Amino acid sequence: MSGIQRRAVVAGAGIGGLTAAVALHRRGWQVTVCERSPEPAAVGAGIVLAPNALRAFDSIGFDVTRAAGSAAPAALGLRRPDGRWLKRADTGAMTARYGSAPLAVHREALVEALTAGLPEEAIHYGVAVTSVTAANGTDDPAERPIVRTASGEFTADLVIAADGIHSPLRQQHYPAHPGLRYSGETAWRTVLPADGPAPAAAAETWGRGERFGVVPLADGRVYVYATAVAPEGYRPADPRAELLRRYGAWHDPIPALLERIDPAAVLQHDLHDLAAPLPRYHRGRLVWLGDAAHAMTPNLGQGGCQAIEDAVVLAHLLDGTDVAGIPGALAAYSAARCARTDALRVRSRRAGRIAALAHPLAVAARDLAVRATPARITQRAMDDLCRGMDNVPVDVAARSEAR
Ligand SMILES: Cc1cc2nc3c(=O)[nH]c(=O)nc-3n(C[C@H](O)[C@H](O)[C@H](O)COP(=O)(O)OP(=O)(O)OC[C@H]3O[C@@H](n4cnc5c(N)ncnc54)[C@H](O)[C@@H]3O)c2cc1C
Repeated sequence: MSGIQRRAVVAGAGIGGLTAAVALHRRGWQVTVCERSPEPAAVGAGIVLAPNALRAFDSIGFDVTRAAGSAAPAALGLRRPDGRWLKRADTGAMTARYGSAPLAVHREALVEALTAGLPEEAIHYGVAVTSVTAANGTDDPAERPIVRTASGEFTADLVIAADGIHSPLRQQHYPAHPGLRYSGETAWRTVLPADGPAPAAAAETWGRGERFGVVPLADGRVYVYATAVAPEGYRPADPRAELLRRYGAWHDPIPALLERIDPAAVLQHDLHDLAAPLPRYHRGRLVWLGDAAHAMTPNLGQGGCQAIEDAVVLAHLLDGTDVAGIPGALAAYSAARCARTDALRVRSRRAGRIAALAHPLAVAARDLAVRATPARITQRAMDDLCRGMDNVPVDVAARSEAR
């Protein structure tokens, strides 16, 4: 490899873009991140990081627990609105099997911790990337890409499109792609301050066309979320009143948690995924990751985890390559990531259909099936998620050079 420093421009300072930027920076790349928003994302929600994402972070030497103050719940599982458990797992057993239990972190803390891993001048806020084209206007990987923004142009050896679910760069380069499709469900999220009792277990409760999730965070805060089958664009005037109406009679501690909600702090998003997979995740020297590449519904809690996996696998494949080797590394990235992420996109949508069932007979059959599913089948499904970093054809885990 030549001693010339390679330069990457990242579009988007979300979880995926920042993880890629940190991973490349630690491997000696010069990194510039362009973020459309005028300041760091202050998303008032939690995110659950499954063991596959924790292992990916570990492989780039990023200690998420120390950085973001994560909390591992004692148990996690599925409940019915009357409080009965449908499934319950001890997180100690997950730690024994996967090396760690899922960790719940506040998104803001995670974004802050990743940002702190970059030089201050690396992130340009309020700079939206409007287009990326090769200098000669083709997909020729021999050509350096030009990144255009309202405030000027950058050239780079590599451009990473981490511009999220609505990815303008996906639309620019795949104009015939059908884009997003609505899942039929909307979701509310908020984080409650640490001024009340926090549950020890994380649980999702499945009703009829409605779900409610409770996730304890570090420092006593509680991340709560809810989903409901609703027409796209449905926006109740008072989200707290809506949540109380829908979930106020469910099991403890849900009613008490709902009473503590600040309506102004409730986020609502309709849940979408990509209507079809992208044919590949690279074009010339432009590469997509995270929701920009494979937006999925949050039913498996893997959208962010896959963005982290993408970023780490990409950085690993680029490791040791010179500029001429970048196109080969991007082809290897597409080969490593497309099948896994698309299978999860499809599985997540299917899981959502089952969780959102509303007819009483269908709900009774579903709940019975959840309770009756043999542990080995549940475990196989979990293995597929949590051991994902073992399945990609690169030895990411062996790389801990940044430590
Ligand atoms: C209700 C809900 C719950 C979820 N729970 C979980 C969970 O528990 N675990 C999990 O793993 N995942 C979860 N997810 C999914 C997860 O939030 C996403 O998959 C993840 O945030 C994707 O990260 P990203 O970096 O690809 O995109 P984003 O986080 O969306 O970041 C994209 C960034 O790009 C910026 N941007 C957009 N356009 C441009 C442009 N033209 N130029 C420059 N910047 C631009 C945006 O401002 C944004 O900052 C959940 C999602 C939802 C909706």
